[in-house]
Formats: sequence, C-alpha cells, structure tokens
Amino acid sequence: MQRRLALFQRDFTYAMIHDMKSPLNTILMGAHILNTGKLEEQAEKKKKYLQAISDECNHLLTLSNRVILLTQIEKDELQLHKETVVLEPLIDDLIEKFRLKTHKPVEFSKAFHHCNSVYADAFCLREILSNLIDNAIKYSGDSPHIQITAEERNGSVIIRITDNGIGIEEEHLAHIFDKFYRVSNSKRPPVRGYGIGLFYVKTMIHMHNGTIRVESQPGKGSCFIITLPQTHERQEIDIIG
Ligand code: ADP
Repeated sequence: MQRRLALFQRDFTYAMIHDMKSPLNTILMGAHILNTGKLEEQAEKKKKYLQAISDECNHLLTLSNRVILLTQIEKDELQLHKETVVLEPLIDDLIEKFRLKTHKPVEFSKAFHHCNSVYADAFCLREILSNLIDNAIKYSGDSPHIQITAEERNGSVIIRITDNGIGIEEEHLAHIFDKFYRVSNSKRPPVRGYGIGLFYVKTMIHMHNGTIRVESQPGKGSCFIITLPQTHERQEIDIIG
C-alpha cells in the first residue's frame, strides 16, 4: 500500500504538471499577441484570444481545486459548502466539456423526472459526476452512449450514469470502490488509471449522506446509481426521524 501510494503521488504530480503546461502555454501566447497590439483593429480575433485565456485560466483553477480537494479528503479536512445545486445546467456544462476533450464520438442523452436540484457541495458534485462520466467514456468502445438521468424519490435524488461499455465482471463489483483497486485482465483494453477515482467518489458521496452502487453486465455496460438528499430540510427530518 505504501509503495503504491508513493508511486501514485509521483505519477500524479507528474501528470498534474503535464496537464498544467498546455494551458499555461496558451495563456502566455495569447497574452503576448494581445500585448503586441496587433489585434487592436480585429475585434473578433481579440475576443477569441481573450476567451481562450479565460477558458484556460478556469481549467487551471479546476485542476488546482482538484488537488486541494484530494489533499483535504486525504487529511480528513474537507469541509462541504452545501447548497441547492440545479442539476440541468451542471450536467449540460459537463457534457459540453467532455464533448470538447474526448476523441471518441460520444452520444449523450439526459432525462430529468420531477427533479431539478440536489442539496450538495457544487464543486464536489461536479467532481463526482466528472469521474463517473470520464470512466463511462474510458471503459467503452469506439461509440460510447452515455445516459444521465435524475429522478426524485421520497425526498432523495437518484442520479444514474449508464454506459454501453465493457462492463464489470461480478467478482469485481464489490471491490471497485476500494482504494487502488483496478480490474485488469488480458480481455480488457489497457486503460491508464490509478484505481482511486471511485474511492474518492464514494468518500465524497458518503460525506453528503448519500450512497452509490453499480449494476453491470460484462460486454453490455454499467450503470452507476447515486442517491443524494434533495433538500436540507428533508435531510434534517430524516436525521430526527
Ligand atoms: P481507474 O479508472 O483509474 O482504474 P477507478 O477507481 O475510477 O480507477 O475505477 C476502478 C475500476 O473500476 C477501473 O479500473 C475499472 O476496471 C472499473 N470501472 C470503473 N468504471 C467503469 C465503467 N464505467 N465501466 C467498466 N468498468 C469500470
């Protein structure tokens, strides 16, 4: 465990720095071009450069927040700032981000049944959904179809992320939320990873008084099912009850 942790920390730091280099280069290049004054007469082009700089700054901020989040979870110091988070814009934004960054032609579909918000820490919720969508794409073939649905039931919100990917064999289902657990066998395509994503997802969901489980059929796909409290009031009633 210690050896894997040390290895993970080294690889993670390298991957993070690598991820930060590209946005920093774009920002530097954009700032340099704007500084030359060459775009003063080209309003449209100038707007594009400013937008690219702002997008990349946001990307860097997300990466930094992710590192802070993981460190806080590790040190047991994570403080949640729960609020009512409206689901549809968050999910639309995630779909848009994944469409831009993935090389596969992913088909997304979404449906909301009598449910538009959840009581959660907005950044954590984004990280949870991001991790699950990322896995759904990673562990699918060339034409992933990812379905995201949300419904309200007895004061809880149930969010399902379903994919048509490679699925998970029965014997691994109970372990995939364990730290550093990865399914590897010769039949699976070699996919990069550390085996920590689902561990952090589960930890964050438990901190929200929620649950996560998975249903899967090898060769057909997987469905990750999250349950979270819908409102603050309800959660307090449940605790009192
Ligand atoms: P990683 O993806 O880095 O290995 P995770 O903790 O995110 O780590 O996932 C643990 C394991 O669960 C993965 O190695 C993979 O085998 C399996 N897994 C997770 N999500 C899916 C999915 N949507 N479809 C198939 N297998 C999955």
